[in-house]
Amino acid sequence: MKLSSLLLPVCLGSALCAEAAAGSRSLVDTSQSPQAKMYMTDLDAVRWTEGLWAERFAVCRDTMIPHMWTIFKDPYESHAWDNFLMAAGLGEGRGTGRPHGPPFNDGDFLKWFEALVQVYAITKDPQLDQWMDEMIGVIAKAQREDGYLHTHKIVPQRRGQTGAVAREFEDREHFETYNMGHLITTAVIHHRVTGKTTMLDLARKAADYIDHLCKTVPQDLARNAICPSHYMGVIELYRETREPRYLELGKQLIEIRSLVPPAEGSDHNQDRTPFRETFEAVGHAVRANYLYAGVADVFAESGDRTLFTPLQRLSDNVAQRKLYVTGMTGALYDGASPDGAHHSQHHHIKTVHQAYGRDFQLPNLTAYNETCATIGYAMWMWRMLALTGDAQYADLFEKALYNGVLPGISLEGKHYFYVNPLRKDAAFDVPLRWSRTRTPNIKSSFCCPPNVIRVIAQAHNYVYSLSRNTLWVHLYGASTLDTAWVEGHRIKVRQETDYPYAGAVRLAIDEAPAHEVGLKLRIPGWARGERISLKVNGAPVLTPPVPGSYAEVRRFWKAGDVVELDLAFEPVLLEANPLVEEAVNQVVVKNGPLVYCLEGNDLPPGVRLADIALSLDPRNRTFTAQRETIVNADVTTLTVPALHQQRAPWQPGQLYREAGPAALRPIEVKLVPYFAWGNRGEADMSVWLPAR
Ligand SMILES: [Zn+2]
Repeated sequence: MKLSSLLLPVCLGSALCAEAAAGSRSLVDTSQSPQAKMYMTDLDAVRWTEGLWAERFAVCRDTMIPHMWTIFKDPYESHAWDNFLMAAGLGEGRGTGRPHGPPFNDGDFLKWFEALVQVYAITKDPQLDQWMDEMIGVIAKAQREDGYLHTHKIVPQRRGQTGAVAREFEDREHFETYNMGHLITTAVIHHRVTGKTTMLDLARKAADYIDHLCKTVPQDLARNAICPSHYMGVIELYRETREPRYLELGKQLIEIRSLVPPAEGSDHNQDRTPFRETFEAVGHAVRANYLYAGVADVFAESGDRTLFTPLQRLSDNVAQRKLYVTGMTGALYDGASPDGAHHSQHHHIKTVHQAYGRDFQLPNLTAYNETCATIGYAMWMWRMLALTGDAQYADLFEKALYNGVLPGISLEGKHYFYVNPLRKDAAFDVPLRWSRTRTPNIKSSFCCPPNVIRVIAQAHNYVYSLSRNTLWVHLYGASTLDTAWVEGHRIKVRQETDYPYAGAVRLAIDEAPAHEVGLKLRIPGWARGERISLKVNGAPVLTPPVPGSYAEVRRFWKAGDVVELDLAFEPVLLEANPLVEEAVNQVVVKNGPLVYCLEGNDLPPGVRLADIALSLDPRNRTFTAQRETIVNADVTTLTVPALHQQRAPWQPGQLYREAGPAALRPIEVKLVPYFAWGNRGEADMSVWLPAR
């Protein structure tokens, strides 16, 4: 049966539905959300054709996903799949009869499954479909009849064990609602792609279980909302089923947060302060960003502006004071609660790990920047964009996507970062909790790797959005769009570009609706107005495009029309607000959306990375772009004249010394895109470089 015939009955009889049908099989379906200004294209409407994203998608499909399965199914590497088998009564795990691995591994496995669903949406490989069916069969057996799914508790329960080991919601760090949230999200996507209800039925059961808790023990549920993926999940389930009780549940999940007793609340879980009274992004950054993305989803459906006002405030706080130049968030390994809330009473202080720091506190060597925090931030910014149509959120999303998400996995696709420093220096030998080299497994916390994989698999969904008679273009990348639109009309667009390495984009219209359509092209805030050119069929548009907005061309399009946008960007140096102490007198090289860095691999022997400075004089700063292959990736590197400051080496134990003159020697240095760093063996690296 065709998918469209399965889905049509949901929409029959509504004019709005008829228009929205194209987006109803999308990643985040805001096609009927009262507060949304746009909705996404279907999960299979856009395909990368060449360039960076086509290459990343291929590595994701051929290496990242299959390799991660070898980890998940290995009882000594992960035990994630064995936990499901044991909960389903189908295995013995390592023979111990006990679940192993971190308690949030169920959710991590399901994030990987979401990537699998997305790949299937593009490839339609029947073997993949069959494999997914088999895994869903196991997950269905693992889930408890009342909808609860958390293998770490279900396994002992099935064995008749009692006490804390078998009692749900005993420990809020068990991430039970996180696990069920990812089940719900993945199931909704699976239903949109396959039309099958096998997994959606499990999602309904899980949501009904959460709904029951929300009505019977709301305080316990609120206290256990750790890393709340279920906020997004429940709203997506509402969008898929249109059952009002799931919207009501989504609203209630936010409201019950205020039931957490003040003595128990903390910034570790953003429940020290009622959401509506938060003025600053604080605490555990992954949990904060998941919360904010979930609240944005609730607002999209409910229209409760008392939720949206704090979201805008928090978004400004992060963008203006707490965001790395790479779009990453969560600066600190360990922070303290009051740092984020103008709190001065000592007894209120609670420690928080992987935390948002104070305003402007953005260290480089010790940056935490958990990859999941960046992903949460990107999901949040995407929702802010859908709610406002404001291009600033698209800029922030793109910044995080290229410079915050992509570095989370090695180019070959088998090594992962948990934390993402902006500087690495072998002389800095302070032990830290997490590796600053990508590792083949992160046994105690495997949350980031599948999260990165699903975003890479899904990146094409963020290229376009639709709204009434308007096609929005957010991201540029060589790709095709083919989507049904209003009342059976189609639109087909080919994007030809070398973006993100060059700013010229050619959009060829291959099919267009018979009515007038506005094409809204994102003009990034970092583009330079005087350099931008925008032409339709060779003729410049009358209104010059404005950076930080969408340039709209509205007309009756026909096959053969061509739109040429040239952002004509070139490498620039960025500096930070001087309140960012760790970036004082330093600059970052940015080329279009990409942040660049210097790696020790590219320096001559005996030259320390810390002794390299860039010149602020534009006459000494001619960048030469060159195409190179790093591992399996075709990237553009930048070579630029620099200064080698020949300084005496530092002695052990020496903290300060008299500053002496440093001989300056000209040197050429090569910079690589930050997402490609750390792929050529151990070496020092820095995003920020001294400027002279
Ligand atoms: Zn993570």
